[in-house]
Amino acid sequence: MRLRTHYVFSTGLLTLLDSGIFHEYFYYTLILCGIVSVIGNSLIDRIGHKEIITRYGYISMRTPLTHTIPRSVVWGIISIIPIFILLLIYYYGLNYHEYYLFSINNRVILLTLLNGIVVGPSHMLLDVFTERGIYVKKYGKWRRFALAHFKYDNPAINGLAIIVGIIMIYLAYL
Ligand SMILES: [Zn+2]
Repeated sequence: MRLRTHYVFSTGLLTLLDSGIFHEYFYYTLILCGIVSVIGNSLIDRIGHKEIITRYGYISMRTPLTHTIPRSVVWGIISIIPIFILLLIYYYGLNYHEYYLFSINNRVILLTLLNGIVVGPSHMLLDVFTERGIYVKKYGKWRRFALAHFKYDNPAINGLAIIVGIIMIYLAYL
C-alpha cells in the first residue's frame, strides 16, 4: 500500500490497542503511535525495496528483507530505539519533575514496546492484500503470499484502509 495509508492505518491500530492500557492520555498515545507508525512503516518500505532496471525502466521491487511477519517485528522494534533514547533522556535528564513522571513512565515504556512489536505486522496486514503480497518461507525458499491482488496504489483499497485507520482512532478516543 501507499506509505501514507500505512501511516494512518498503523496509527489507528496502535492507538486503539494502547487506549486499553492508557486511556486517560488519548492525545499523548495518539502522538506516540503516530511517531512509531511513521518511523516503523517508512523503515520497512524504504529498506524493503530495491530498484531494479528492466526494459521498462526502473521498477521498485519488494524484498523479503522486511516484508515477512517475523522480520517486520524486528524492524518495528529497531524503529522504536530512537524513541526509547529520547524517553530516557526526557525522564532521567529532567529530574526536577521526576515525582510526577515516575507514575507514568513505566506505562509509556510498555506502550512504546508494544507499539514497536505491533507496527511491523500491521504493515504486513495491509500489504498482504496487494498484488506483490508479503513473503513467507516455504521449503527453504521465499514465496510471495497475498490474500488479494490489488495494485499497491489502488485508490479504493487505500481509501478503505485510511477510513478503517480513522475509525480505530475514533474508537480509541471514545
Ligand atoms: Zn510495504
